Amino acid sequence: MTGTHLSPSGSGTRLLIVGPQGSGKGTQGVLVADTFGVPAISTGDIFRAAVKSGSDLGEQVSEIIQAGNLVPDELTSAVVAERLAQADASEGFLLDGYPRNLGQVADLDAFLSGRGEAIDAVIELQVPRDESIDRLTRRAFEQGRTDDTEEVIANRLAIYERETAPILEVYRERGAVDEINGVGSLEEITDRIIAALEARGLARVPVA
Ligand code: AMP
Repeated sequence: MTGTHLSPSGSGTRLLIVGPQGSGKGTQGVLVADTFGVPAISTGDIFRAAVKSGSDLGEQVSEIIQAGNLVPDELTSAVVAERLAQADASEGFLLDGYPRNLGQVADLDAFLSGRGEAIDAVIELQVPRDESIDRLTRRAFEQGRTDDTEEVIANRLAIYERETAPILEVYRERGAVDEINGVGSLEEITDRIIAALEARGLARVPVA
């Protein structure tokens, strides 16, 4: 039977947003999470905050992030499990930047099945490579992110193709992936995502 990983018994909305760096997934993730009343959880943001605060975690990941490489699965999955155990994620969440490879998919599956939960939908934000590179280069200039240099950008996109793109095939087999055209205005793209999720029967939070 297909779809055994879908239709979690628990209520709530559990989403992933996946796309290459520069696809706009961070921005869209926050907007979509708000619309469905769940927290947006970005592993990149968690790691960057840890580096900034100078915590133990920050020290462990600082050089890895700087080079655009992946933080080891064991550490990343432990950070995510701790974050998902917080009260605000009990009724759902939107994960941005995790899982990023097949090992992390297995970790997330194990964590969720332990709670009787599953992912409801995976938003795949599709953006052509040239457009991603343009956006990343612009962001490097505007935000001064030190992992947005040309060399590191190329490394991160290569890792996306090699390690992250294959996770989409796993979720596609489960019937969980919504392919969204990530080129257009911010509002257009948000509307496309919301329409796809509503078509799955996921309920947005009523506007007060
Ligand atoms: P992002 O903002 O999602 O591009 O993440 C920035 C950096 O944090 C990445 O280049 C990785 O070094 C690290 N990172 C974020 N999420 C993960 C993850 N799921 N697994 C491993 N490393 C990650």
